[in-house]
Amino acid sequence: MMTNKLGLYLHIPFCVKKCGYCDFLSYPPGEGEKKAYVSLLRKEIRLWKGKTDCPVDSVFFGGGTPSLLEGQELEQILECLRDVFVFEKDCEITLESNPGTLDEEKLRDFKSLGINRLSMGVQSFQDDILRFLGRIHTADQALTQFELARKAGFSNINLDLMFSLPGLSMQGWEKTLRRALSLEPEHLSYYGLILEEGTPFYQAYKEGRLGQEDEELDRRQYWYTVDTLSGRGYRPYEISNAARDGLACRHNLKYWSLSPYLGFGLGAHSYFEGRRMENTRDPRAYQRALEEERALSEEGECPDGFFCPPCVEKLHLNTRREDMEEFMFLGLRKTEGVKLSRFERRFGVDFFQVYPDQVKQLKGRGLLAQEGDRLFLTPRGIDISNSVMCEFLF
Ligand code: SF4
Repeated sequence: MMTNKLGLYLHIPFCVKKCGYCDFLSYPPGEGEKKAYVSLLRKEIRLWKGKTDCPVDSVFFGGGTPSLLEGQELEQILECLRDVFVFEKDCEITLESNPGTLDEEKLRDFKSLGINRLSMGVQSFQDDILRFLGRIHTADQALTQFELARKAGFSNINLDLMFSLPGLSMQGWEKTLRRALSLEPEHLSYYGLILEEGTPFYQAYKEGRLGQEDEELDRRQYWYTVDTLSGRGYRPYEISNAARDGLACRHNLKYWSLSPYLGFGLGAHSYFEGRRMENTRDPRAYQRALEEERALSEEGECPDGFFCPPCVEKLHLNTRREDMEEFMFLGLRKTEGVKLSRFERRFGVDFFQVYPDQVKQLKGRGLLAQEGDRLFLTPRGIDISNSVMCEFLF
């Protein structure tokens, strides 16, 4: 769905401990670090006062582990956001959480702040797998926290699950999925393990201590998930996400629809008025930039007066061609694919004039399909989605 309303992303870079596979920007917080970070975050948010009147219809606390924050800290951030931006009445407010950091009181606090979507990083319902991943919670803890979240009034809950893991059999994955479905969450995200450089898992793989993924099993687990969820009333709306009707994640859809969003905090990204901005990933540089209000970006002040916060390290004005590439690359992740009429409205040019050969060629190979106005990946296309999407890069 196309929307020009604004999304806000808040990066909370703290975790109790690092999981073996994780390359997200996160680390265990030092004494007093959470409080200091929240204060910097509010400083960064306040810089936007009066800079845009675009209504906000989604807020996403991601990380890291945002549920490591206390209710009071989240309240301070939300108050600041509400003071600076115009919130839509039905604004979706998501908080990512780790079951090992939740309890009844916290969940009640989060709900009372207006957080109306809870995303739980469950990953598996097998304790041996959770230990292998380096998670800080057990399967039972995840089940308990889910029930407590329901009790606290959360009626829109996502579960994050991981498949294609060393040691995870087909039966094991089926069991995890069954247990997840028995909870009747509104939304499920399912990701295959990727060995990211710089992680302990990658190192173990390099040293031969961790086997390579079994591609055939990876695909079997993936398609089993899509088929099972479809049969249980969920709509897979993106390569790795399925939801009950009307409960697709509004915030994440913005990324795949090339809609505007502003990111706050360490390493956060923004796409706003055709610019891509990237905050520094260095905690000390972030602090210095905000306290001294001295621009980190080489570009400094934008020549046309576009506002760029001092903690932004990289600023790039997308060319029209780059926007087209991103529109296609990201849009094809959605199950509905991209709408040709939307492309033409946005860029004022006939789609086939821009991409005269790609569609014919990919259709011929059975990787892409067209239904009326819609261009989307076939199941075979989904299996090699990255290489199909790359065909739309100039
Ligand atoms: S809890 Fe999430 S963000 Fe934190 S280390 Fe684990 S995977 Fe990474």
